[in-house]
Amino acid sequence: MKALITGGAGFIGSHLCDHLVAQGHEVIVLDDLSTGSLSNLSQLEGSAKLRFVQGDILDRELVDELVAEADTVFHLAAAVGVYNIVDNPLRSLRINLHGTENIVESAVKHRVPYMIASTSEVYGKNDADGLKENDDRIYGSPTKSRWSYAAAKGLDELVAYVHGVESGVPCVITRFFNVVGPRQTGRYGMVVPRFVDQALSDEPITVYGTGTQRRCFGSVFDVVPQLTKLMDTPEAYNQAVNLGGREEVSIKGLADRVVELTGSGSAISYIDYDQAYGEGYEDMQRRYPDTSLATRLIGFEPTRDLNDIIG
Ligand code: NAD
Repeated sequence: MKALITGGAGFIGSHLCDHLVAQGHEVIVLDDLSTGSLSNLSQLEGSAKLRFVQGDILDRELVDELVAEADTVFHLAAAVGVYNIVDNPLRSLRINLHGTENIVESAVKHRVPYMIASTSEVYGKNDADGLKENDDRIYGSPTKSRWSYAAAKGLDELVAYVHGVESGVPCVITRFFNVVGPRQTGRYGMVVPRFVDQALSDEPITVYGTGTQRRCFGSVFDVVPQLTKLMDTPEAYNQAVNLGGREEVSIKGLADRVVELTGSGSAISYIDYDQAYGEGYEDMQRRYPDTSLATRLIGFEPTRDLNDIIG
């Protein structure tokens, strides 16, 4: 099989390259290196199985040419990271929406099965008890720049789904929940690598908000092999499938764990969201995936706990 991986020089994409090449497949990576890096692919340097193309998913012609060559498309390229999104909401929207449109339209045109990466953020903050016009718990509130990411990903799902249903070309939508592992960078706000970097340099670990917000971190090594399994499972087509870990932890608890596991002397300090991301920022209090659909479809069972992930 020859797979096109958009965003293949990024964190999850580069692990998917390793996985596919190890299985004997050929991989074409399309990446603009905006948040990814060629160093993420250095272990595959010289491999005849890997072809790297530096380019933008907004470039329709290039996308069409590469999709036409592929047997499967894994679409992972996106503008990601809270800092990135909050600072560039319109650019993020354009990449995440029109970039995905380009990929899906070419995949359907050339009848190439495709997977698109979505996110837990499409669930928004909606624990709702009454909907108000200024309620930003839904992902689409246009008055909050951060939500350009969730809104675009939600629309991506719709684009992928409708094209999949109408064309009959296999389509899988994966909703990742806080995937973590080697090569993830803390530069754009990802909490685990940021805490680890701070701990290893004995700087204070900065918790945003109260630290009582809870998350569930999944290992990239547990998540990546599921992507090919889903593509091989017709029952998964035209469905959104949650993928993530099962061990829930508060962000304060995460900071404590990082200090303990790294043996760091770092103190834990707190800053409010306004200071971290700008005025008006709010975060979800809890984000916990129900992964039973993935378990039923492909037998998904996470094998790595938080200590393995941090270690
Ligand atoms: P990442 O930043 O490491 O990977 C994204 C890659 O896309 C980077 O290599 C970047 O250079 C590339 N890219 C960005 N814009 C591009 C463009 N216009 N054209 C071509 N390439 C472009 O992030 P990641 O964590 O590996 O995320 C991969 C995918 O998974 C993304 O779609 C993201 O939204 C989704 N996701 C990730 C998580 C997570 O926990 N890591 C959670 C939810 C969703």
